[in-house]
This record gives sequence, C-alpha cells and structure tokens, in this order.
Amino acid sequence: MERVALLRTSGRRLLQRCGRPRPLVPAASSSAPRRRLTSSSASPSSSSSSSRGGSSRLLAAAAPLHLHAAGRYWPLTAPGLARRLSVPAVSTSPSPVPSDTDDVHEYAAKLGFEKVSEQVIDECKSAAVLYKHKKTGAEVMSVANDDENKVFGIVFRTPPKNSTGIPHILEHSVLCGSRKYPLKEPFVELLKGSLHTFLNAFTYPDRTCYPVASTNTKDFYNLVDVYLDAVFFPKCVEDFQTFQQEGWHYELNSPEEEISYKGVVFNEMKGVYSQPDNIMGRVSQQALSPDNTYGVDSGGDPNDIPKLTFEEFKEFHSKFYHPSNARIWFYGDDDTKERLRILSEYLDLFEASPARNESKVMPQKLFKEPVRIAEKYPAGQEGDLKKKYMVCTNWLLSEEPLDVETELALGFLDHLLLGTPASPLRRILLESGLGEAIVGGGVEDELLQPQFSIGLKGVSEDNIEKVEELVMQILKNLAEEGFAPEAVEASMNTIEFSLRENNTGSFPRGLSLMLRSMGKWIYDMDPFEPLKYEQPLQQLKARIAEKGSKAVFSPLIEKYILNNVHRVTVEMQPDPEKASRDEAAEKEILKQVKSSMTQEDLAELARATKELKDKQETPDPPEALKAVPSLSLQDIHKKPIHVPIEVGEINGVKVLQHDLFTNDVVYSEVVFDMGSMKKEHLQLLPLFCQSLLEMGTKDMDFVQLNQLIGRKTGGISVYPLTSSIKGKEDPLTRIVVRGKAMSTRVEDLFHLMNCLLQDVQFTEQQRFKQFVSQSKARMENRLRGSGHGIAAARMDAKLNAAGWISEQLGGVSYLEYLRDLETKIDQDWDRISASLEEMRKSLFSKEGCLINITSDSKNLEKSGQHIAKFLDALPSAPSLGSDPWLSRLPSVNEAIVIPTQVNYVGKAGNLYQSGYQLNGSAYVISKHISNTWLWDRVRVSGGCSIA
Ligand SMILES: [Zn+2]
Repeated sequence: MERVALLRTSGRRLLQRCGRPRPLVPAASSSAPRRRLTSSSASPSSSSSSSRGGSSRLLAAAAPLHLHAAGRYWPLTAPGLARRLSVPAVSTSPSPVPSDTDDVHEYAAKLGFEKVSEQVIDECKSAAVLYKHKKTGAEVMSVANDDENKVFGIVFRTPPKNSTGIPHILEHSVLCGSRKYPLKEPFVELLKGSLHTFLNAFTYPDRTCYPVASTNTKDFYNLVDVYLDAVFFPKCVEDFQTFQQEGWHYELNSPEEEISYKGVVFNEMKGVYSQPDNIMGRVSQQALSPDNTYGVDSGGDPNDIPKLTFEEFKEFHSKFYHPSNARIWFYGDDDTKERLRILSEYLDLFEASPARNESKVMPQKLFKEPVRIAEKYPAGQEGDLKKKYMVCTNWLLSEEPLDVETELALGFLDHLLLGTPASPLRRILLESGLGEAIVGGGVEDELLQPQFSIGLKGVSEDNIEKVEELVMQILKNLAEEGFAPEAVEASMNTIEFSLRENNTGSFPRGLSLMLRSMGKWIYDMDPFEPLKYEQPLQQLKARIAEKGSKAVFSPLIEKYILNNVHRVTVEMQPDPEKASRDEAAEKEILKQVKSSMTQEDLAELARATKELKDKQETPDPPEALKAVPSLSLQDIHKKPIHVPIEVGEINGVKVLQHDLFTNDVVYSEVVFDMGSMKKEHLQLLPLFCQSLLEMGTKDMDFVQLNQLIGRKTGGISVYPLTSSIKGKEDPLTRIVVRGKAMSTRVEDLFHLMNCLLQDVQFTEQQRFKQFVSQSKARMENRLRGSGHGIAAARMDAKLNAAGWISEQLGGVSYLEYLRDLETKIDQDWDRISASLEEMRKSLFSKEGCLINITSDSKNLEKSGQHIAKFLDALPSAPSLGSDPWLSRLPSVNEAIVIPTQVNYVGKAGNLYQSGYQLNGSAYVISKHISNTWLWDRVRVSGGCSIA
C-alpha cells in the first residue's frame, strides 16, 4: 500500500511505501533471489536526482508516480526492482477496438448508465466513453483499445480534516476482508495466487485509489470483484480489531509491563516522520495550504493517530466510500458490456448520497505576504551539525485551476529550470556551493492548485538566507534574459520523445493514463483533457516559433513565481536530541495512560492484547479461503513470452538484435567488461559514470553536451551492473552504456556515446566535488529511508562477491568511502583525475565489448553501419587478464546505528552452501513464506513491515 505525498528529494517526488509487498511486476522478479544490480547510487535510478523533470502530467507517460523519463535517463517503473536489463523498453501502442457502439450504449442504458461523453483519443489510440450511473451518480470511464494489460481502478475523494490518518488506515483496512470474501486478508490471497500485473492501493492527500491490472481476463474480473467488494462492504467497519491492527492500539502483554503503541500504519508513519526529506515535503505542503485539507496529513501524524476513534473511522468510510463519490476507470481489450454489468451489481445496491458535495476540495486563498517557517528534524550526532540545515522555498501558483496550455507551458518551464543537470536553476544552485543537494520538486500539478518548490540541503547555518536570495536572483535573471535556444530545443525534444514513446516499463500503461486523467477528473474537471496533449503541444510549439521562447516563459516566471507573494520558505534545523525527546514524550503519555487505569482495566487490556494476537495467529477457515477466486492451471498460458534474439557480429564484436515493434525508436546498450579495471578503482566507479555524463569534452562544456543529448536522443545513461553467475564464485561485472533515439537519429546516438566514452575530460574538480556531496547526501537519505535495503546489501556482501561489489558501490561502505573522499578531493585531485583517466583506458575497448539493440528489422539493419563506425572508433586493448573478485565482508553479526524511530532487521543465508540446486523452488518458497508465516508474525502481529 502506498501513501502518495508531495515529497521531493533531490528534485523528484517520492512515493511513500507502506509495508505491503509491491507486486508491481510479475511475481517472479519481486520475490526471486534478485539479480544483482549495483547500487542505486551508481545506477540511473539514483542519478535520478538529475532525472526529475516536467510537470507530472506532462511526462506522465512514464510511470507518473515514480519518476519521469526526462533528461538522459530511463523511466523507472518499479522502484528498487531489477528491471534495467530485464525488460527491453518496447512500445506496443494499443489501437482502438471497433465495437458496435449503439449496441453497447443501449445495453448501458438498460443497466442504468447514461453516456455523458464519448471521444477517440489518438494519443493513446483508444476510444473512451464517460458514463454516469443514474441512480447514484457514480462516474465510469471506459477506455477501449487492444492493450491486453487491462486496468481497473476505483477512486474516492477522501479529504481528511485532521492528521489522525483516517484515509491511510482505511486504505489498509478495507483490504482486510469483506462481505463476499470474509477472510483476514483477501489482498494477501490475491498476492499469492493471481496473475496480476499490478495490485496495490494509494492514499493521496485528498483521494484514495484502488487499482488492479492483469493480462488474463478471468483473473482481471476476479480482481475487480474482490476490490469492489472490499471498498463497498469491508469487514473493518464492524470489526474493531482490524482498526486496532492496521491503525493503532495499546499493547500490554501483562499488567506488570509497560504499555506500548502498536499498529501497522502507526509504525509506518513513525518511519516516515524520521526522514528529513519527508518532513520537509510535509511541512512545505501544510504551510502552503493551511486552510484546506492539504494543511493536515492524510497519512497520519504518529502524535495524532492515537486520537482517532473507531466511530470516526466508520463514519469516514460510510460517507466517502460511496458510489456517489466514486470515479471508476476501465482500460484495455476486454468487453465494455461486461465492465458495466459487474459494476451495476454493486452500484445498484446504493442510493444517491451527498458525498460528492461533502468531499469537495476547497481552494486555498492566496496569501497577502510571504511566510517563513522553521522546523526541527531528528539528526544523528555525526558530522558538523551546523552544516546540516535544509531550506526550501515553495509557491502556490494559482487560486484558480490553470488552462491546459498554461499548464503545459509550466511543465516545459519546469523542465527548462530543473530537468537535467545542465538546467540553470539546478546547476547554478549546486555550483554555488551553498548546499550539497537539491530539495523541492519544481512544478507539482497533481493536486487542486499547482505549486513550485526548490531548495538545498546540507546547507550551513549562516547560508540559509543566501539560498533563498540566490533562487530569486537566478529566476529574475532567467526572466530577463530568457533561455538558450539549444536548451529550449533539448527540453522540447525530451518531453516530446517521452510523450510519444509512452513507455511506462512494467508499470501498466492504462494505470499511468488513469492517474493522469484523475488529476483533473477528481476535481470535477474534464477527464479526457489530460490524455490529449497533441493539440496544446503543437500550439505551444507554434507560439514559441512565432514569438520566441522568452515571450512565452518570462511572463510565466514573473507572474507565477517572482511576483507571487504566496511563498513559504521552510528551514529545517538538525536536532540530535529530537528523536530521544519524542520517544520520552511518548513514554510519558503511555505512563499516564497506565496510571489512569485501574487493576481491572489493566487486566482487561492484557486480555484484549492476547485476544488480538490469538486472532491474528489463527489461520482462516478453509471455507473462507475458498471464497477468494483463483485460477486453475488451464487458465494460465503455458508458453513463456518469447523475445526474439539474433546473435551476430560486427567488426569482431558480438551483437544481439531483437526484432520488435518499437514505434520507430531504437534502443541500444553497449556493455563493457569491468574485469580489466584495477580493483583499487572500484569505489570510484559510480562517480566515474556520472563524470562521463556530466563533465563535458574538449569542445563542449557539460551544459552543451547535455543539451546535445537532449536535442538528438531520448536519453543516455551509464551505470555498473553486477550479478552472481550460476555455479561460479566469480561474479559478472559490467559497465552498461544505454541510449535510445528515433531511427533517424541513430547515427547521432552512437556518435554521442562515442563522445562520452572517449572525449570527456576528467578535469572539472569543482563539479566532481559536487558529485561527491550529492552522492553522500543521497546515501544518507537512503540510510534512513531504506534501512532494509542497506541491511540486505550488507548481508549479501558477507555471502558472495557480487554482493560485496554492490555494497562497495551503494552500501554503508560506499557512504564511508564518500565521506573520506570528500575531505581528500582538494589535496588529492590530480591523483583522482589520473585514476579516472586510467579507468577509461582499461574499461573501454573493443575486447570484451557487447552490443544489444532493439527495434524493428528495418531499423536494425540500418543501424548496422552506425554500430560499425562506433566500433571502429573504439580503441583496441589486449585484455591483461584480471584477478577474480573474491572479496567478502567478514561474516559476523552487525548493528549499525542510524537516527530514526524505526529499526530495520534482516537475516540471510546462502542456500547453495546447504546443497540447493537452482531449479525454481526457492522462488516459490520465498514467496510463500513472505506471504504467509512472515506476513502474519512480522506484519500482522508485530505491526512491522516486510521488505
Ligand atoms: Zn501504508
């Protein structure tokens, strides 16, 4: 389950993840022993600090909630999952399915649905009809095309009035059993047994979404039915114990012991409230909109969650989880009639309610003058606290909703300002040396009123005001001088490429479209409009061509930012005592609770605690389990998906070709062997990759180089890749250079790759210093927010060489290395620069190179000559042979202390050492254990999350 909050780290919005498993991709990859990809700090996913960009709706084509496909990087679909090499990014754009529409509308009318509007949407090759259920007012968007990855979602407007976390607790609780599916957690049964390609739920600040997706029609309708029954008829509104389990309760194992708080959401939010970036995002949003629902936290403030009563919880459900307050989305190649038939069975059971009026989100009135806020955050003792301040300036852009073209133009502006490392606002802020990394996500337009945020973290106390002044100065200069034409062209190409490629990876395309449409629909605006970008895009391009980009963008900067006094500057101060103070305050409250209780009360609480635990540990009766629909073996395709591979050779280098329809995009990876690199250079590798992309060549500084990449291609990234090899001690270690371009630009793509590999100069000491500070800030953030990942990496590093390498490049060891490096750069720069040069020489040669290329046969054939030219230009260096990578961390138990309110614990062992042979059983067993025994003990009874 996920809580969607407007949080931004290094310029990208984060999703808050709850502890439920995240089955965003087919099950095998989520629970399988992972293919080991090197640290996120070295990979595109983390360089994603630079890969933010554009308004969410603008670039929503690429997994809108996670990350945009802007800049040089790749769309990330399922954060944290191994997907970079596993899924060739192939577009198979859907096309509308012709259907006998009169017949469908007649059938719809019979079921009580009235057609509101009908449109063909060329941008997603779909025919879409908006229906209204006459009796209840429920709205249904039925999108028909030939995409077999069908998507359903039901969304309720759920604006909270306080920070007790009702929407979030409800989002968890409705999936704990319902009328037709009366077991403890049908959700978990679905996780175990269905073929879903997506199964999850999100809590936004003002809405709650329940989406599912599957390519199997029978499975799809099973999922739809379980979700509809869950939202409309959940057991949790009658069952106090579910509320206690998912929300909060006092736990007392025996009257002599201390009382403690327990609850899944309670614990989850304690984790969220420990992370400085999260605190910054929340405080900024609340301060921008103090007077409406965005002034409180829909996820729940751990201080307020225990104030929530069961009565309020039930009332919230009955008010807002009602068809009159629902927006329902269907997408894919299934039958429209069947969609409506299933829906009518549920909707007909309700009468109209006033929920839709009561759930309206009121706009925040614009301030008359700017506001400043200071807030403390829990910091560790290490390092110089005076340099750990954070500051972010935020604007609420408008009281009224903006028209499409203005919104689109703001999206472009956002990309121009911040979209790539070369973008001026981002670049100048980082180059100023006032802070270590960017905070604030630029333009954010998924809520009622758009906002803009930008700031820095790792700022020293005396520089706080300077950051805000600098932000204003840069914006003022840009408004006066305009943007470079090359920058405008690069942003235009990047955004257009992303929109047309519409590559959402393994994130269902229909879900990406639903979330995009919902951004307007949820506020009673036109749900079709966000799906139709073509016309406004052409208009904007025409306007820029006619009047020049300055005439388009300068007035936007002036009106919405510079002259807009609805501005909130948030300063965050490190406080090493805060965590222990909060803990003491919680203990004190619990002590008072206990002392206010009589002996009988305490005995009763101990009894209730035991009763809840017993219930949690009692398995569901078999008849209840049978209620959850599952597929039989006949329902499942026996053949695996076939990816065509043709192995060939160009100039003595192995080339893998995949002949697939890609909508004229050519995807390519050039892979080099890392084995020829000196072992002592290993930890420099992530920074080496970043240097290739962000240092510039003899003829071009990095800004020009980045603009060229943006103008000519769909993006280039460079990252290390590590994996264990079956039956071998020595792991696979590679450097991947990945790029994509339209077929007419393949020559440019390979030429630019060649530039990056051979011409980049490792001479920019100050830029390198920035890379180190940014990486360090990112790693420190990971340490708090993804402690389970850190723990897992640490354990892997004790068990095998591939794990050891990954940990060196993205674990605690890497953070230690970065902290050390930061202090050495000034004295040691010549040596570091020489090492980078040496790494290039040892890594990039024809020997050990492999090329992987995906497009249709015509494009593959045409690309051959450009590949040959690229290879000709590569130096030839006879391999010197290399020592195997056999290092491990010492095999001892460890405890690592970090300043958060949550602990992360892990345990690992090597199955192969106990005689296991790879045959797939471990995948099944690991999925089974996670969704059964571990789920019940760790999450349900313990109130913790399983990672
Ligand atoms: Zn959650």
